[in-house]
Amino acid sequence: MKLFDVYPINDINIVKAKGSYVWDDKGNEYVDMYGGHAVISIGHTHPYWVKRIEEQLEQIAFYSNSIKIPIQQKLADKLGEVSGKKDYQLFLCNSGAEANENALKLASFYNGRKKIISFSKAFHGRTSLAVAVTDNPSIVAPVNETENAIFLPFNDKGALQNYFEKNGDTVCAVIIEGIQGVGGINVASESFLQLIRKLCNEYNAVFIADSVQCGYGRTGKFYSHDYAGVDADIYTMAKGMGNGFPVAGISIAPHIHSKYFMLGTTFGGNHLACAAALAVLEVIEKENLMSNAKEVGDYLFSEIERISELKNLRGKGLMIGFDVTPELKDLKKNLLIKHHIFTGEAKPNVIRLLPSLALTKADADKFLSALREEISILVKGLPALEKVI
Ligand code: PMP
Repeated sequence: MKLFDVYPINDINIVKAKGSYVWDDKGNEYVDMYGGHAVISIGHTHPYWVKRIEEQLEQIAFYSNSIKIPIQQKLADKLGEVSGKKDYQLFLCNSGAEANENALKLASFYNGRKKIISFSKAFHGRTSLAVAVTDNPSIVAPVNETENAIFLPFNDKGALQNYFEKNGDTVCAVIIEGIQGVGGINVASESFLQLIRKLCNEYNAVFIADSVQCGYGRTGKFYSHDYAGVDADIYTMAKGMGNGFPVAGISIAPHIHSKYFMLGTTFGGNHLACAAALAVLEVIEKENLMSNAKEVGDYLFSEIERISELKNLRGKGLMIGFDVTPELKDLKKNLLIKHHIFTGEAKPNVIRLLPSLALTKADADKFLSALREEISILVKGLPALEKVI
């Protein structure tokens, strides 16, 4: 049976991983500056995470949500502690799209409205509502199109204010990534997030902070939206929450009560997923990974800033992006093939860095010296590599 085509696939077969490194089946070592797409938070195969999952697996992996599952409460308590939002409530599910789907549904149950404000270049997932508020026509099927999704320009306070003044009573929710990931590492300004908070308060709309990619400590704060000093009504999270184990959640402010609706999912919050997610939070706390993300992220940022060929450097902590000019179009490919470094990309010419929060300065230096070397080769006009291993 053939695999259904999803992404362009290169020929590298990664079979082993540890910390910020992965190895292919031929024994080649690679630095993972992409964190397996922002998923690896505490480092690949972290020994404590492995141990906790193994222990849980031997006890019980799954039972229906119709019984009480005490490890869910343990996870909620730890999340409240580490995120600083102790009075919020946790709903557990399985993916970022599912988290956003439920957040949007919940907002609509809560205030009874339908219009969702999203922004240019937003990415919120591939299920029906999540994709309807995603600004990427290539993944929105005709059945997903809805007049309830309103797209406004990102960071445009005037457009937002204007929309609310005219239609505020119909707005169910505003959904926004604190830093857009798939859209190319675009940072929401603090004043923009503050305006969203103010307008949502005024019009009883729900502020949904999509923290699937930019959250979980990656920026140095637990939620990247925290930089603006405002609280969202709902935070959605996935990727880094399980460090590779599929688990997601939504953190819900206390004024949104469950009397309005019912959410549910068979696998959400199963014992094994909770053990993985709990281990991640314990390691983030014990190893001070949020401060590490800030420190090593600031170092990477300031070193990349000195490379004059790279344009529009942006991001926070270990979520960094920059533009590549046409003469550097082979940079990403060459970093992988020649230097064995995984990076991410975004259209049209953006390189994205989303490594593990445990990245060390020494790991960052390996990447930086390869980056400098490859740029100087490309700028001097030497031929680009043809062969992909
Ligand atoms: N929101 C954001 C900001 C994302 O980056 C993604 C995934 N790239 C999603 C939601 C969807 O997450 P998932 O693929 O786990 O459904």
